[in-house]
Amino acid sequence: MTQSQIELTEILRDAREQARFLGELGVESVDYSQPRSTDLPMDTLARTLESSSDGASTTIVKTISAARAAPPEALFEDLAPTSPIFPRATETLEDIWHNIGDCTRCGLCEGRTQVVNTHGNHTARLMFVGEAPGADEDAQGKPFVGRAGQLLTKMIEAMGMKREEVIIGNVNRCRPPGNRQPTLEEAAICRPFLFREIAVIQPEVIVVMGNTALRNLLEVREGITRIRGQFQNFRGIKVMPTFHPAYLLRDPSKKKETWEDLKMVRDYLQSNPPKAKS
Ligand code: URA
Repeated sequence: MTQSQIELTEILRDAREQARFLGELGVESVDYSQPRSTDLPMDTLARTLESSSDGASTTIVKTISAARAAPPEALFEDLAPTSPIFPRATETLEDIWHNIGDCTRCGLCEGRTQVVNTHGNHTARLMFVGEAPGADEDAQGKPFVGRAGQLLTKMIEAMGMKREEVIIGNVNRCRPPGNRQPTLEEAAICRPFLFREIAVIQPEVIVVMGNTALRNLLEVREGITRIRGQFQNFRGIKVMPTFHPAYLLRDPSKKKETWEDLKMVRDYLQSNPPKAKS
């Protein structure tokens, strides 16, 4: 392969990942503003990228033609790392919750009492993401209201904030039977709603609590023990992985490390002025 083919392959890989992510957000077309005259449908883009793991340059040329003579830079500018990470959300959290409705998209609906949607300040700078509702959350319809939730409230207050200032959600919105971990498939079905919420809320920092939240936001292989305490990047948003409060209830010795992680988040928020949301 020539150097330019290697570079094109890399661009293609990044673009494929971006297309998949935008698809998960529910984006149906990439909006090409002037001088391009038409949108390239997401499914066309994704299909083109999907079928082109090799022979990158030929495929890119075909894709460019499909975009009606847009030059390569223009074709990929919306997908470049420097461009706005989330397309501006034109929906509200209420729209998303309405869309979720009385969800039956996965088998977890069979054992749940109710769907537990994200709860808190819709314009929060700080978001917490856990795994899935437990018994108390299933009964009350709000995330983190049981014992783990009470500990989470203390953690938030220790950071000098009020629970009402932040927003709290889960990867899955229905209680798994016996509080088991959601399966990969269950998480993959529910996760796009969380991504859409994040696009609306545009938090400055997301604290992912435990492995399920970590792996579903960042798609990393490492576990929480290795990666905690190190800021990560989720589409331009700072992410702090830390232990899940339910784990802290089982092993209180881990509270010290968790507090170190939360202090980093607190310090970041205190030393940076609130960002204007687009
Ligand atoms: N554990 C979670 O991950 N989420 C909740 O809402 C409650 C407990």
